This record gives sequence, structure tokens and C-alpha cells, in this order.
Amino acid sequence: MKVGIPKGLLYYKYHPFLQTFFSELGAEVIVSPDTNTEILNEGIKYSVDEACLPVKVFHGHVYSLKDRADIIIIPRIMQVRKREYICPKFCGLPEMVLNSIPDIPQTIIEPIYAISKKKLYSWAEGAGSKITEDGSKIRKAFNIALNEQKNHKQGIKDENYKLRVALAGHPYNIYDKFINMNIIEKLNELGVGVITEESIDDKLIDMEVKNLYKKPFWTFARNSYGFTANVSREKMVDGIIYISSFACGIDSVVVELIRDKIGGFPFMILKVDEHTGEAGLDTRIEAFVDMLERS
Ligand code: SF4
Repeated sequence: MKVGIPKGLLYYKYHPFLQTFFSELGAEVIVSPDTNTEILNEGIKYSVDEACLPVKVFHGHVYSLKDRADIIIIPRIMQVRKREYICPKFCGLPEMVLNSIPDIPQTIIEPIYAISKKKLYSWAEGAGSKITEDGSKIRKAFNIALNEQKNHKQGIKDENYKLRVALAGHPYNIYDKFINMNIIEKLNELGVGVITEESIDDKLIDMEVKNLYKKPFWTFARNSYGFTANVSREKMVDGIIYISSFACGIDSVVVELIRDKIGGFPFMILKVDEHTGEAGLDTRIEAFVDMLERS
């Protein structure tokens, strides 16, 4: 059985779990290639115009797997923290994909509530039963995959640069080099180090969020807000860059919350969509770094 995993959206956060789980079940795991122009073009062709760039890119990844895999995972991730949710586009992702791309093989689309081991295991039982009927094998694969995820170190914390910026936004915008046009490398070449939200203690994010008049409903809004509020207050960085997807409703709220919180702290929003040109992005990064150097 060949299991296809699209390298888009929260693949960047949860790939150790997904890949290990299905490999341990004995499936051959095929991950789609890094995002490239062809994947983007297929994504644009097979998704609705109104979708944000990461969702379009995800469609392209599914398209690239559809003739190579026997079964494709379209993770319907609902929750990863209690009393918080993931963007509604994740809830309807399977329907969007299945109604837009023809001739898709079998899929795994059961909702994922990763808020407790028990709830996540109920997803694993359903997904695993499509690969094997052996319940003990599923249990074993689940535990190994969970450990793999726990031991996976994520995040960037550059040291020894003359300047340092906090790079905030959804994980797929931070870690997909095609979507962000290699921003981390570009900043490093300009002598600017990067830190991401994983490099600060989660308790600090909680502490910042508690000061808001209302707790954010969306997990990634909570993370971005708490991270940027903390690093600006503690002066851990010289500036903040937020990578935002055009047409993202959550971003439109969170950038205003951040702006309101950090006051005059250097802050730049880079909005990306399929039309964003690299030259324009380079100019904005260079101007921002120039401004940081002078301040
Ligand atoms: S959170 Fe924003 S960028 Fe992410 S899938 Fe939802 S709309 Fe798109």
C-alpha cells in the first residue's frame, strides 16, 4: 500500500508523526516534492479563486500524488489545543480537494482532534484500519509515531548575527521556502538572524495571551500574538516580520492585535499570494533591514 502525504499546510509541523505512523504500519510512504512552480500552478488550477495561497498549494501537492499513491491523507485537523481551533479551511479541506481534483484515489479524511492521546488514538485507529486489520500493530505504530513527534526539535533560533528578527506567521508560511521565497536565507545573507515561535517557552505565550481582553479562538493566532508580544517586550529581537497569506481572515485580526500591542516596535507584514514577485519582496526586506540598522 502506497500512502501519499501532501507536503503542505501542517505537514511542516506534524510530519514526524504522520510519516512514522504509516511507515510503522508497513505502508510505503510517498511525500510530495517540495513546493515548486508546477505544484503551485496545479493548485491554482484546481482550487477556488478565493482560497488562500497555502490552501492552493496544498491542492497542488495532492494533485502531484494522485497517480502515485493508493491512498492520500488529507488531514482534517480540527484541534491541537483544548478550547482552541484551527482555521475553518482545515475543517473543510477534504471537501474542497475532493470536489476540485478529479480521479483522486482513496483518502483518509477523518477529523483529527489532537487534544489528548485518547482522542488522537481514535483517529489513528480509523486511519490505521485502512492499512492493516491488526489492532496491536496500530497501537504500536501510534506510540512510536507519538514519540517521534515529541522528540522532533522544531524552530529556528539564530545566534551571532548583528541583528535579529522574529519571524511570525503560520508554520506553512514560515517553513515552506517556496511560499516565503526563501526569506530566512535572504535575511541571513543580509546579516540578520531569525527566531521563530518555537524558540520561546510556551508558558510565556500563555502569559502574554492572558493579558488580552479575550483569549484568541485560533491556535496559530494565539501563538503568533504571544510570541511577538513577548519578544518585543523582552527586546529579544530588533524587529518583527509577519508572513501573512492574502485572504486569510485570521491574519487580518492577529496583525492588528500585534500592532496594537507592540506600539512603535519595528514591524513589517509581508503578504504573500500567487502573484507576489520575488523582486518586490527583496526590496521590502532590504528596506526593513536598512531601517533596523539605522535605528
Ligand atoms: S489560517 Fe489563513 S492561511 Fe491558514 S489555511 Fe486558514 S485562511 Fe489559509
